[in-house]
Amino acid sequence: MLTHAAFMSAIALICLLLALALLTAWRDFRLGRHALAWSAAFALAAATSGLRLSSTLVPGWGEDLRFLSCITSIVSMGLLSWGFCRRAERKTRLVCEVAGFVLMLLAILWCVQGSGWVTACRLLTSMCNLALVVIALSSLKGARKTIRLGQLMFLMAAAYMVTVAVLAVTVGPDPGSVFPLTVAVGGPVVTVSLGILTLLITASDLAGDLRMQAWTDPLTGLLNRRGFEQRIAEMKASRPLPEPFVVVVADLDHFKTVNDTLGHAAGDAVLRCFARQISSALGGQELAARIGGEEFIFVLPGTPPAEGLARVERMRQSVPASLQDLGGSHQITASFGLTALRGGERLEEAIARADLALYRSKREGRNRVSSDEAVMG
Ligand code: GH3
Ligand code: MG
Ligand code: MG
Repeated sequence: MLTHAAFMSAIALICLLLALALLTAWRDFRLGRHALAWSAAFALAAATSGLRLSSTLVPGWGEDLRFLSCITSIVSMGLLSWGFCRRAERKTRLVCEVAGFVLMLLAILWCVQGSGWVTACRLLTSMCNLALVVIALSSLKGARKTIRLGQLMFLMAAAYMVTVAVLAVTVGPDPGSVFPLTVAVGGPVVTVSLGILTLLITASDLAGDLRMQAWTDPLTGLLNRRGFEQRIAEMKASRPLPEPFVVVVADLDHFKTVNDTLGHAAGDAVLRCFARQISSALGGQELAARIGGEEFIFVLPGTPPAEGLARVERMRQSVPASLQDLGGSHQITASFGLTALRGGERLEEAIARADLALYRSKREGRNRVSSDEAVMG
C-alpha cells in the first residue's frame, strides 16, 4: 500500500514537472498555444494520479474519486491531442467534439448510476482516450526520426487503452485482478512517455527555428550562403544532383550609386524586390540565395543550359521595369553569369566558373548575361 502510494505520488510529481517545463518553454521561448495546452494536459495528468491515489486511501469516496479521475484523464488527453492538432495547423474541432460528447455521456452515467455504470465509465474513458490518441497520431509532424518515435509512443498508448477497455469488460476492477495492476503500471508509463515526446518535439521545434534563422537572410527572406550550402548538401544526400544542373550568379549593377543617391533604405527595398523577382521566377526544386551584399545565386536542377540561358535572359530584361518604382530616374539593371555543372565536378567549381562569367558581363558593360563554354559548347 505504502509502495503504491509512493509510486503514484512520484508519477504525479513527474507530471507536474513536465507541466512546469512545458509552461516555461511556452512562456520563455515564445512557443505556440499548443505548448500551453500540453502543459495543462500534464497538470491534469498529475491530478488524475492524485485522484487515483486518493481513491485507494479514502475507500468511502473511492467510486466518486475514480469517476473524477476519468474526467481529468479525458480532459488531459483532449488537451494533449488538441495541442498536436494545433501545432500541425489542423482543425481542433474533432478533439473538442469527441471529448465533449464522452464527457456528456459520463455525466449522464453519473446521474443515473445504473448497474455497471462504473465499468461503463471506464470503458468510455479508454475508448475516448484511444480516439484522442489516434487524432494526435494523425497530426504528428516534424523531423523524420521524431515522427517515428512519436508514432511508437502513440501506438503504445493506443495498445494500453485497448487493453484497459478489454480488461474493464472482461475481468473487472477486483483488487486481485490484472486490471488495477495494468492501470497502475501502464497509465504512468504512457503518460511519462508522452511527456518525453512533447518535450522532445518542443526541443526539435526550437532547434528548427534557430536553424531557419541561421540559414535565412533577414533582409530578403531568401536563404543565405550557409543555408544554400546546407540545402544543396541535403539535396545531394538523398540522391545525386540532377543533370543538367544550371548555376547562375547575379549582381546588381552600380548598386553603390543606388545607395549613394537614394539612400540605404531605398537600397534595401531594391534588394528585397530583386530577391522577390528571382524567387517568383523559380520553380519547386530550384533554390535561390543571397550570398553577398547585392549578389545572389540560384540553381536550376534538371533545366537544359540553353533553356536556362533563355530564362535568365528574360529575367535580366525584366529587371529595370520591376525595379523602376524604386529607382526613380535611375535605371537599375543586373548582370548575370551562368554555367552548368560538369560530370564529377564539385558545385563550388561550377560557382567559381559562373562568377568568372559574371565578371565578364561586368567587364563587357553590365546589364547582360554571360555563360561559360560548359553552356556555349
Ligand atoms: P558593380 O556594378 O561593379 O557590381 O558595382 P556595385 O556598386 O554594385 O558594387 P560594389 O561592390 O562597389 O558596391 C556594392 C554596394 O552594396 C556597397 C554596399 O554598401 C552595398 N550593400 C551591401 N549590402 C547592402 C545591404 O544590405 N543594403 C544596402 N542598402 N546596401 C548594401
Ligand atoms: Mg554590384
Ligand atoms: Mg557585388
